[in-house]
Amino acid sequence: MSIQPAGSLLRAETRLLRDSGEPAAEESAELLPPWPTDPKAAPARLYPSPGPAWPSRLLRGLLELLAPARAACGLCGGGFAPGRTSLAGLPADLPRSWCEGVCGRCRGMIPWISRIQCHVCGRPDPCGDCCRRTSSGFIRSRSAVRYTLEMRQLLARYKYRGEEALQPWLAEMLLPAYHALAEELRLADRLPGRVSDRLGRDGRSEAQPFDLVTSVPISRQRLEERGFNQAERLAASLAVRAGVTSRPLLERKEERGKMSAKTRRERLLAAEGLFGAAPEAAGILRLLAARDPERRRPLRLLIVDDIYTTGSTMDHCALALQRCSHVPVDLYGLTWARA
Ligand SMILES: [Zn+2]
Ligand SMILES: [Zn+2]
Repeated sequence: MSIQPAGSLLRAETRLLRDSGEPAAEESAELLPPWPTDPKAAPARLYPSPGPAWPSRLLRGLLELLAPARAACGLCGGGFAPGRTSLAGLPADLPRSWCEGVCGRCRGMIPWISRIQCHVCGRPDPCGDCCRRTSSGFIRSRSAVRYTLEMRQLLARYKYRGEEALQPWLAEMLLPAYHALAEELRLADRLPGRVSDRLGRDGRSEAQPFDLVTSVPISRQRLEERGFNQAERLAASLAVRAGVTSRPLLERKEERGKMSAKTRRERLLAAEGLFGAAPEAAGILRLLAARDPERRRPLRLLIVDDIYTTGSTMDHCALALQRCSHVPVDLYGLTWARA
């Protein structure tokens, strides 16, 4: 695998995004100032090391008063005193370890999407895209945060600069949107209560909202350049935390010809054939359906991606899975950011 400087990868990424027919959301990422990391900070750690054994609670309390315990922020790496800042305003369903592992300054920069205006794509502002779309591969899609300048910087550090320690922190940011979507489906199914409250006799959750989590694929060329597919990693992390199986089911074909030379219509048509189901996808879906013959609804799949822009990527991925499946399947989307 060839190692290239982050700048050239970013240029390649920008070109591919432009060529894919999606608006180039990353276009100016290269020109962005870096996320304001603390230069004196130690690199972000996933797990704080255990502190020294304290002689007594009283002494510990006194010492905390004089010099509060410091932790390294999971997002910027800067030192901060956990417990000294308010956790108010953070979405419910964010793990406590996330809330206490991110400094107040970083927490304040995250534009969580807590209210949506479009019930199809989860946009927090009035949406003109969903009514214009002619095909509808997915039923609903939701996103964790708005794609602001700060969120672009944060995602670029993970995606292009290879700061892999950010992955669990970014994946956990998906949980509030995931649980909100799950709750919508539970209401639709008239199955009130949280997943954990409704365990079947075999210990499986009767109200598990999704049968499988999958992800938007990247092309082989981009995979070789970057070394990982960020959507697949986010999907796998989310699935572990939500107690659902994750599995890549889609393939992305290599783009043919210069897309930049094509008209918008030609580009959209070319983007249509960009995603296809993996050869094993139909068999996996059939096995999933056979596992629970008494299920009264279609299989439910969640497609995870990092950014939702126009929705055409999500739509084409959902359509590819619907076309390949021999069993009824409903597709939903979840992305880290909403452009
Ligand atoms: Zn921070
Ligand atoms: Zn919409």
